[in-house]
Amino acid sequence: MSAVAVDQDQSVSPVDMLIIGAGPSGLYAAYYAGFRGFSVAIMDSLPELGGQVSALYPEKLIYDVAGFPAIKGQDLVDALAEQAATAAPQYLLGHRAEELTVETDHITVRTHRGLDVRAKTVLITGGIGTFSPRPLPDAEAYENHGLVYFVPHLDDLAGLDVLIVGGGDSAFDWAASLVDRCSSVTLVHRRTAFRAHQGTVEKVLASPVRVLTPFEVARIHGNGAVEAVEVFHNVTQERERLDVQAVVAALGFTADLGPFTRWGLEQRKRHIVVDSAMRTNLTRVFAAGDIVEYEGKVKLISVGFGEAATAVNNAAVVIDPAAHVFPGHSSAAG
Ligand SMILES: Cc1cc2nc3c(=O)[nH]c(=O)nc-3n(C[C@H](O)[C@H](O)[C@H](O)COP(=O)(O)OP(=O)(O)OC[C@H]3O[C@@H](n4cnc5c(N)ncnc54)[C@H](O)[C@@H]3O)c2cc1C
Repeated sequence: MSAVAVDQDQSVSPVDMLIIGAGPSGLYAAYYAGFRGFSVAIMDSLPELGGQVSALYPEKLIYDVAGFPAIKGQDLVDALAEQAATAAPQYLLGHRAEELTVETDHITVRTHRGLDVRAKTVLITGGIGTFSPRPLPDAEAYENHGLVYFVPHLDDLAGLDVLIVGGGDSAFDWAASLVDRCSSVTLVHRRTAFRAHQGTVEKVLASPVRVLTPFEVARIHGNGAVEAVEVFHNVTQERERLDVQAVVAALGFTADLGPFTRWGLEQRKRHIVVDSAMRTNLTRVFAAGDIVEYEGKVKLISVGFGEAATAVNNAAVVIDPAAHVFPGHSSAAG
């Protein structure tokens, strides 16, 4: 992967398409732009490719990507990056798109670091926006000293006693993935009901994972790093000290659509409204993936792939009015 961080005093060559968001939808769109013969740049506020998949569940198996009965999140991102490399994209990682100006024959996007990118079309694949984890209260001192919000590599926690905090999908997914690698796994959740996939909940409840509800974290103990966590039953106030070396706080995350809400884009339910060609209400601006809204929208990776292809092929006739929406078959190109 030829990802490069571009500094604000460097310039970026004008491109046919600027893609904002390097998640699965954006990466696939980059490949498609290359397939159509267009120059492309991909921008992301994160320093790495892959969007939610890399940031939130790189080690999890995904079962519903067409053609792959099961594929690990990071493997999917790596394959998408390899496919996108055929388009030779300019990667602008660590840049958050802040301002968008529509001009007669192009668009200029300025990043929070002052970089201006000029493009004939823009495709917004910003997912849920820039996202950050909800913090575990009063635990800042232990962040990255035993307390983590993401588990990019499961083996980092191998052999440890681990406490997972939360009752949603991420909490249960981490529990299911870690139980065979760790010395012990305890999951605490402040409610008795869970908001996770039923099958995973059942799998975890049937495993050696110790599940405590309705329990909350009272405080973390440790001399510079996590050594133990005091938890309490929030009805009886009964307390228990758990000797753990790692805490995974899976309390959800807050997403910030930020700049996208200020660009004059039509929005519904905090998403960007698109038509069936993935056009937004702004000339030359398309959108695809989790960020879009239309009747019947389903937020899945496979749906984002289809929308990315639709968006790029419809942008093709904006970039080159002599082009056709239908790209021809890729199998004919080899
Ligand atoms: C725990 C979990 C498990 C999941 N499991 C599955 C599954 O099994 N199958 C499935 O199909 N889906 C699954 N999903 C959903 C799937 O991950 C999303 O549908 C998918 O990631 C959407 O891809 P995207 O490219 O549209 O957006 P995202 O993956 O959200 O990527 C958007 C990117 O845009 C960037 N960005 C946002 N705003 C800006 C800005 N202003 N400037 C620059 N960059 C910006 C973000 O940093 C991010 O990298 C799961 C989600 C979670 C959280």
